Amino acid sequence: MANVMVLGAGAAGLAVAAQLKLRGVDSVVLERGPGVGTSWRGRYDRLRLHTIRGLSGLPGFGIPREYGRWVRRDDLVRYLEAYAERFDLDVRTGTTVTRVKPGGDRWAVQLSDGGELTARTLIVATGYLHTPVVPPWPGLDTWTGSLTHSATYRNAEPFRGKHMLVAGVGNSGAEIATDLAEGGAASVRIAIRTPPHIVRRSMAGWPAQMNGLLLGGLPEPVFNKLAATMARLEVPDLSLYGLSRSPIGLKTRLRTSRYVPLQDVGIVRDVQAGRVRPVAAVQSFTESSVQLADGTSVQPDAIVAATGYATGLRELFDDPALFDDTGVPRVHGGASARPGLYFLGYDVTLGGMLRQAAIESRRVARSVRNAL
Ligand SMILES: Cc1cc2nc3c(=O)[nH]c(=O)nc-3n(C[C@H](O)[C@H](O)[C@H](O)COP(=O)(O)OP(=O)(O)OC[C@H]3O[C@@H](n4cnc5c(N)ncnc54)[C@H](O)[C@@H]3O)c2cc1C
Repeated sequence: MANVMVLGAGAAGLAVAAQLKLRGVDSVVLERGPGVGTSWRGRYDRLRLHTIRGLSGLPGFGIPREYGRWVRRDDLVRYLEAYAERFDLDVRTGTTVTRVKPGGDRWAVQLSDGGELTARTLIVATGYLHTPVVPPWPGLDTWTGSLTHSATYRNAEPFRGKHMLVAGVGNSGAEIATDLAEGGAASVRIAIRTPPHIVRRSMAGWPAQMNGLLLGGLPEPVFNKLAATMARLEVPDLSLYGLSRSPIGLKTRLRTSRYVPLQDVGIVRDVQAGRVRPVAAVQSFTESSVQLADGTSVQPDAIVAATGYATGLRELFDDPALFDDTGVPRVHGGASARPGLYFLGYDVTLGGMLRQAAIESRRVARSVRNAL
């Protein structure tokens, strides 16, 4: 069997396979979905990258200029397909890994069809945003409305004429709330647990991502102060509408909870216009209503839970010491976590996850090459 196996044909898996190839190392990439970029294929229709094209491409072959500054979902998938072709990568689609086991000097992966493959080196790139998470809200099982996770939300069509509650005001939650408001929902509320740090996607042509990159090295208190000042200059005060400013500094949130700011692609305008109404966090459910943290309740027809993801890695491995208590590998992005075992794509930075995956793919490929 192969000397090097990569799990996941997303951006990170493809980039590391290409970097290995450039160093003379062939690999086999195992992908559960029907094609490369499976995560992106399933995301909502209106989605565009919020990182700029020039800082989102993978090493050796950038995203084509004709895809514009803010790359559409389908164009990103097309790019990933072209990337795999360009480097002639050996991607085995429809191959789901259910378990990883160490065994002597090789790693064995069990497949959902009962098969097993082994390799000397295993590189795991199954995605930081892997397993949709819905909080264990009391009473949810008794509620008669419908719940969709943001991971499976495509567009507003099924929710036309419905009273909607979006739970969570991250990038997905805010954009889905806008999509529902534009797409004919009867009403849209957005439930907020921690007020977001909102930034404009770009100001006078200057993308927010660049601020993160250029200023990210500043000491935390300085960065926090600067980010708060910029937010006050860029984004109007929405506290009258129930959306106050983040009480925690941006860099502190990034460090403590891997938080990235909310890029405004319509939520500010929609909140001001009353098309999206902020409400308190979801607390529990009864058969017919949703109880909120401020003691009020609402009766939506349906909820979109934009409540995040887990890495799903603890379910793949027997060795819990590999991961921290949020399921992120303790060692990732370059060095081996165990002899012959590498992880990439698990670092959240203000410079963007795609850019970070590109950086890590070089580091991991170098480590693997040197260890072979
Ligand atoms: C709505 C949304 C918008 C985003 N926008 C941006 C953006 O603008 N810029 C940016 O930099 N980042 C963005 N991200 C982050 C984004 O997830 C990453 O940039 C990128 O997809 C990470 O690539 P990856 O290869 O690490 O993970 P993924 O793209 O998730 O790829 C992982 C691959 O592994 C496969 N896989 C998983 N488990 C198994 C298994 N057990 N067996 C076999 N195969 C498996 C999956 O099917 C998938 O193809 C966004 C994320 C979301 C949810």
